[in-house]
Amino acid sequence: MSDTYLNLVNSGITKDVAKKLGLPRPAELRRTDPSAVDHPLLPGPVLLLGSGPDDTVADSLAQTLLAWDLDVHRTLPNRTLGAIVLTLTDIEHPEQVGERVLELGEALRSLAPSGRVIVLSRPAADTDDPAVAAARHGVDGFTRSLAKELRAGATGNGIVLSDGVTPGSPSVTGAVRFLLSARSAFVSGQFVHVTTTDGEVPGDWTRSLAGRVAVVTGAARGIGAAIARTLHRDGAEVIGVDVPAAGEQLAQVMNEVGGTALQLDITADDAAQRVIDLARSRHGRLDAVVHNAGVLRDKLLANMTAEKWDAVVAVNIAAQLRMNEALLSADGLAPDGLRLVSLASTSGIAGNRGQTNYGYTKAAVIGMTRALAPRLAEQGGTANAVAPGFIETEMTAKIPPVPRQVARRANSLQQGGQPVDVAETITFLLSPQAGGINGEVLRVCGQNLVGQ
Ligand code: NAD
Repeated sequence: MSDTYLNLVNSGITKDVAKKLGLPRPAELRRTDPSAVDHPLLPGPVLLLGSGPDDTVADSLAQTLLAWDLDVHRTLPNRTLGAIVLTLTDIEHPEQVGERVLELGEALRSLAPSGRVIVLSRPAADTDDPAVAAARHGVDGFTRSLAKELRAGATGNGIVLSDGVTPGSPSVTGAVRFLLSARSAFVSGQFVHVTTTDGEVPGDWTRSLAGRVAVVTGAARGIGAAIARTLHRDGAEVIGVDVPAAGEQLAQVMNEVGGTALQLDITADDAAQRVIDLARSRHGRLDAVVHNAGVLRDKLLANMTAEKWDAVVAVNIAAQLRMNEALLSADGLAPDGLRLVSLASTSGIAGNRGQTNYGYTKAAVIGMTRALAPRLAEQGGTANAVAPGFIETEMTAKIPPVPRQVARRANSLQQGGQPVDVAETITFLLSPQAGGINGEVLRVCGQNLVGQ
């Protein structure tokens, strides 16, 4: 699926016309190629800002970045920057923040297209001191506003470190790398909460899922097929599930990634058992499940039928609930702890006209994920959700042209995301380096203008 307008304003003679007319020109984002394993992490050096008590935090982060062969600066160099990282983890009063963010502001003019800004902070909820909480929570509004000011495909995000989590904790390292990389192309204005020091930094960042077995539902096309490809690229063995009617497409995708196709309707009574049996017999284990299969049956509530409501509930949430219960009680299935990611949606966060059924189920996914997170943590696993905004797939190609144009421009990057953008975020959340991220709802929406 492609965005004709974006292609026109970025190429040839139409690019000049668009410039002259002052038309909005969404940038071509720096993206990964799912078939290639190695990409330069950044298009230029990193400026690392952290002063006062945060000086040592910034120093420790610098060691990590230097180990990745990045060109790291602590003062503004006379060069185009690939990224700016600001640490605000030790702030105790809003009055301490101005000088530090203004230093970042001065550096913004040097940020490369598709550059990155990352702000590290602490959660307001971890303190009962009003001034500290104010200083910390202010970072939320600051970062989201800054992300809306960035241009040319640059993104701005935050990493929030709970008490006891340090800049050297595996999931902080993992989140910094993910947010700097092209893998996070369509993630902007978001916060990754690292709540524990769990997780492991991989020996090889390009194969962090080697030896892991992952099930992806709805893998025949769209986002599910992209997830299968990125998981395979990073070393995982993939079992792809889709309905028998999509069997041919599923077989194609699984052939491409050397995976196993399982033709199965996830709403069937024996669906969970069939998935578990296949994983056990083929691989002897199952480490990760991506609940991606989903359906739309849009209608205004006044015209909604029981059939449309029930079909959406059955696929988008009830089947997942049943499968998760079966997975949690399957002894010895996931030796290192089960990792789950479910597909939510910005429609489940902000609501969407004509989607009461879909919005209900996507918000239900968020409720389920948060309740599962502590249960999975007990067994060394995690449960997270990813909420895509407008992604260019066959699902969104069915939206009528005018609302489709509006939906794809209504975010800070002024374009729809690609399936690979969602897939990269899911692959990150399933990786060993994300073991300290649990119960998170991470949006992949280019900072959609609706919802938080
Ligand atoms: P899609 O319609 O292109 O693909 C969904 C896949 O799920 C299909 O291959 C379909 O056959 C399969 N599927 C449906 N019912 C199934 C069942 N009962 N059993 C097994 N497989 C089943 O959708 P997509 O755009 O790739 O979306 C994937 C997920 O992302 C969905 O959960 C969707 O709600 C969510 N999402 C998509 C967008 C977007 O903009 N495309 C936005 C937010 C959320």
